[in-house]
Amino acid sequence: MSAAPEILALDFDGVLCDGMREYYESSCRAYGHFWSPSTLRGRALQQQFRDVRPVVMSGWEMPLLLRALVTRVRRGALLRTWPTVRDELLNTFDVPRPDVVARLRDALDGVRRDWIWARADEWLAAHRPYVALETLARVLAGSSRTFVVTTKEGEFARRILARWNISVTGVAGKEAGEHKCENLRELMTTCGTTDVGFVEDRLETLQCVVNCSERDPRLADVRLFLAAWGYTTGAARAAARRHPRIRLLTLAAFRRGVTAWE
Ligand SMILES: [Mg+2]
Repeated sequence: MSAAPEILALDFDGVLCDGMREYYESSCRAYGHFWSPSTLRGRALQQQFRDVRPVVMSGWEMPLLLRALVTRVRRGALLRTWPTVRDELLNTFDVPRPDVVARLRDALDGVRRDWIWARADEWLAAHRPYVALETLARVLAGSSRTFVVTTKEGEFARRILARWNISVTGVAGKEAGEHKCENLRELMTTCGTTDVGFVEDRLETLQCVVNCSERDPRLADVRLFLAAWGYTTGAARAAARRHPRIRLLTLAAFRRGVTAWE
């Protein structure tokens, strides 16, 4: 048993919410803005997308990931060298990279907004909590201040949480900074404490906090948990098990509440 941290910061996708159905559908719609949607045929595509989705850091990469699958980039290459594959795909456009990224981001956010506008209930139903909502409410109430830290638009996470009737102290979306180290620093400044527990399903993000701790000792106090149930790979879970600072958090331990997390 350990004391509850003063701030509990949780990633949204892959920690609180399984939005895989929505990612796939929104990614297909956004893909159609850049490539012919007729190339998306094939029943295996959705399963392949689900399988390699853990490599994605930000939503705008998802239409590119689909493109990589459509153009038959091998699974091993995607899992091991996604940033390289992604950058090669970005270079296939005749415009500067920042413009392509902005366009992809706008396309994805746009199809989401259109979907919500046209069929809000269907969009909300494409997102599922990993645990029963009463359990989630209890776990989130385990710390005096609970924040959702997400690379998606905060507005989208807020809508889903509102539908689930789950309240948190705040939501730091991508409008509040693309890098979660920045988000964590800001929460520390706002709340006046460095006593933070951070749950995330992307190992690289946790490793980034470890690396940033060398320059900012405040981050060295953050307790880091990799959510084993989220969009992780076997390699990431194995790395977390060996890591001196990162802890692998199982869904069973998550359900027991923050004081049960080792
Ligand atoms: Mg995540």
